[in-house]
Amino acid sequence: MYCLTCWGKRRAATPEESDDCRVFRHGCPAEKKSEGLHSRVSDMKGATEVTRRRVQNGSQSASDKMAEPAQWGRAWEVDWFSLLSVVALLCSAPFIVFFFVMACDQFQCSLTRPLLELYSGETTLLAIWARVPFATCSAAKIYAAWVAFQAVLYTCLPDVLHKVLPGYVGGVQEGARTPAGLINKYQINGLQCWLITHALWLANARYFLWFPPTVIFDNWIPLMWCANALGYAVATFAFVKAHLFPTNPQDCKFTGNVLYDYMMGIEFNPRVGRWFDLKLFFNGRPGIVAWTLINLSYAAKQQELYGHVSNSMLLVNLLQGIYVLDFFWNETWYLKTIDICHDHFGWYLGWGDCVWLPYLYTLQGLYLVYHPVQLSAAQAAAVLLLGLAGYYVFRAANHQKDVFRRSDGARAIWGRPPSFVECSYRSQDGGAHRSKLLTSGFWGLARHFNYTGDLMGSLAYCAACGSTHLLPYFYVVYMSVLLVHRCVRDEHRCAGKYGAGWKRYTDAVPYRLVPGVF
Ligand code: NDP
Repeated sequence: MYCLTCWGKRRAATPEESDDCRVFRHGCPAEKKSEGLHSRVSDMKGATEVTRRRVQNGSQSASDKMAEPAQWGRAWEVDWFSLLSVVALLCSAPFIVFFFVMACDQFQCSLTRPLLELYSGETTLLAIWARVPFATCSAAKIYAAWVAFQAVLYTCLPDVLHKVLPGYVGGVQEGARTPAGLINKYQINGLQCWLITHALWLANARYFLWFPPTVIFDNWIPLMWCANALGYAVATFAFVKAHLFPTNPQDCKFTGNVLYDYMMGIEFNPRVGRWFDLKLFFNGRPGIVAWTLINLSYAAKQQELYGHVSNSMLLVNLLQGIYVLDFFWNETWYLKTIDICHDHFGWYLGWGDCVWLPYLYTLQGLYLVYHPVQLSAAQAAAVLLLGLAGYYVFRAANHQKDVFRRSDGARAIWGRPPSFVECSYRSQDGGAHRSKLLTSGFWGLARHFNYTGDLMGSLAYCAACGSTHLLPYFYVVYMSVLLVHRCVRDEHRCAGKYGAGWKRYTDAVPYRLVPGVF
């Protein structure tokens, strides 16, 4: 039996350690039922300290095992397959973005027409390229002003919303423990930045008229080149910084393969100064704040072109708006998700946040500018219902896990005390820790039901665009690949981290996304 584990490196558990991995049904096991939360917690602390002492003073072979590198974040060593995947992604991702945006601009959002025309000789790559707008001075100015404005809001405006909004958690918050055992502090002010940005956007559209609300759509391709320039610059900066002045050297991972390190990142939570966290900033601000602004710009373009905004455009704006607002309302929770806890910051996140996210997550709105689909009342209601149901599942599942972890299993889920699997793991510094895996509520239906909700919402955005073109469905296809890959990646990590505890958990909850199917 395996129990107390190094992350990713299993070892046989001692008989005492084997006891650490137990399935708890609806609360604590019988022998602990009479004890309160506090005694359970102090019990756990005591147990952790005893175990830590045992590990630290352990036999030679135990300390030898501790010296072995623990598995966290991305791989330590690069095999040929990983390297080829990295090179393929590095080469294809910018091209995919370009292809989709160009297909809308030149081929009315048809994905097949450019290929067929190229095949039949009706057009050539050079002819397509000649029609692509290049970066302009005004696009560069707009983009620079946009990023600088977000950076100023992020760094210079400490959060005040958490003082006035009941239930909102903002201000200085702690992130998850890094593999080296550090706990970073973050200035959480995303909701405030989002509100200020959108209030200014609406005030401009209504009163100031400094720029037209269609400005993003009107400069979409020139802005894409600017976003690419920033994406590559950020990734390069992160790579150089990791070599010359890393923020937390203990949390760096070098594989020795330059391409892999550049792409997947070396530093875990790179910072400039004390507060400017590259990962939190780039994912949230130029990326996700922009998402809703881009959609608003598309709606304004529809209004300008057709004199009205279609119900499908309203649905896309509404459903994606809820998703984005939810992200900022729960920004503190986001500090504990895989992106922040386990992914290193390199091209994958840096370029992805600057280019992939704003350009491909907004394809539905872009499509609707070219094809203003008007849904029947029944179709619109079905899309709305699917989108809201998906959002509910996504949010409720994430909330259940969050509440469960924060209350250490003390809060009821669906009106009953939660069931869970308790297990132990060892961090890279050799410390022994305990953790609990929830098996109640949505987490009893499937191991990643939060992803299932996300996929239902994704399908709703796409379905709002009707069924005549493939392009708007890219999002749900991409999210399915991303989230299934995430399931596999996360489960591989958790299996290494929790060992036999994870096996008990997967026995208790056998399906990943859809109960009875997968
Ligand atoms: P999760 O929030 O599901 O976090 C996974 C981690 O939670 C695991 O590594 C494990 O961490 C812990 N965990 C797993 N199972 C349990 C359990 N049963 N009980 C308690 N803890 C458990 O994954 P993500 O961070 O990937 O996703 C967060 C949300 O963000 C999801 O809803 C996802 O849909 C969404 N998302 C959206 C994306 C987008 O582009 N729109 C991209 C990625 C995610 P530990 O080591 O602490 O045990």
